[in-house]
Amino acid sequence: MAADDPDVATGPIMFIAGTRPEAVKLAPLILDLLARGQRPVLVATGQHPDMFDEALAGFGLQADHDLGLMAASPDAAVGRLVPMLADVVRARQPAWVVVQGDTSSTLAGALAARYAGARLAHVEAGLRTGTHDPHPEEMHRKLVAQMAQLHFAPTAAAAAALAAEGVRAGVHVTGNSGIDALLLMRARLAHDPGLASLAAAPLAQVPQHRPWLLATIHRRENQGARLAAVLAALADLAGAVEIILPVHPNPAISGPVQSALGGRAGVHLLPPLGYAAFVALMGRVMLVLTDSGGVQEEAPALGLPCLVLRDVTERPEAVASGNAILLGCETPVIVATAQQIMHDAALRASMSRPALPYGAGGAAQAINDVLLRQASASWPQNPESWSRSAAHHPRSRAPAR
Ligand code: UDP
Repeated sequence: MAADDPDVATGPIMFIAGTRPEAVKLAPLILDLLARGQRPVLVATGQHPDMFDEALAGFGLQADHDLGLMAASPDAAVGRLVPMLADVVRARQPAWVVVQGDTSSTLAGALAARYAGARLAHVEAGLRTGTHDPHPEEMHRKLVAQMAQLHFAPTAAAAAALAAEGVRAGVHVTGNSGIDALLLMRARLAHDPGLASLAAAPLAQVPQHRPWLLATIHRRENQGARLAAVLAALADLAGAVEIILPVHPNPAISGPVQSALGGRAGVHLLPPLGYAAFVALMGRVMLVLTDSGGVQEEAPALGLPCLVLRDVTERPEAVASGNAILLGCETPVIVATAQQIMHDAALRASMSRPALPYGAGGAAQAINDVLLRQASASWPQNPESWSRSAAHHPRSRAPAR
């Protein structure tokens, strides 16, 4: 790295993140950098404080800075985070700022990086439904694509979606680092009986003689009537199967879930599970019903039949692999499809073949190879150099807008 060149950032690789899926999917990158003797910096925004910390702890990691944000809405989160994050970026002068996915923390981290003059890399770039749903996540992804210099697309289709928007430079198809996390955790569970028994503990009360069905639901677009319809389907299915539902702490989810399913026989409402426990559970259930992006990616790798509680998905590869069905949220459709999969062994077998459309676990290494190779690339990103050149330009004397 050219430390004496004022136009080249010389600091560490900095990760900015705030939610559980970002923690899970960035952990393999951070672990790989640590194994290479690097000193990455992880800045937590505080968007999902407990779930974020718990997911990181599953990998023996914790944040270096925690901004402790509590914001009720994405606009409030972004508005408050950008200046706080930009200060951290300016203070640490990272070689790269890395953001992941599509959350408010992702967008705020990207804006802060660019306002502070840092170079920006986006992990899990190019996922598109081609609609405005999910909102605001799809908007976040598109905006970050306009700002990043490096775009790590998990699949060829994601890279093609970026190209269709004119984003061609700096695009690398790497697989999804969420699969690295999954395979890492599965291997740990297989080799560490202590961890496996801790991971099984939250499910100790669930009867073993009926099949287990796992459900997760948290998306903004599924709140209200759609959530009520899913909960009615789960109530209908309970009894034939044991329903296991780790409940998202958002009150717009947890309130209706408790009212519809609390105390019902055959339904097990749990707090959000640590990543080890959740991976162990996915390995144990017959079927998963979910609106989670990460679970849609994990299900094919595990050979786990997956019913997607959405009308559109930015993860069509899971459906193409035969593991997932894009189902929507209508009660009778959910009940009939789940029952069909439970009773039709041939259909279940066809949905249970492991597939790796999101890579075989080498994403973190591939991404870090690119980041480290380009850590010393010389293009002026230092804000000092911007203000120096601006001062020489007469039209730039106008006040900043
Ligand atoms: N997950 C977890 N505990 C849970 C539910 C999910 O560790 O109780 C993991 C899951 O394996 C996946 C990630 O969290 O890796 C998905 O997060 P979430 O569904 O919150 O977000 P999305 O993927 O939809 O952005």
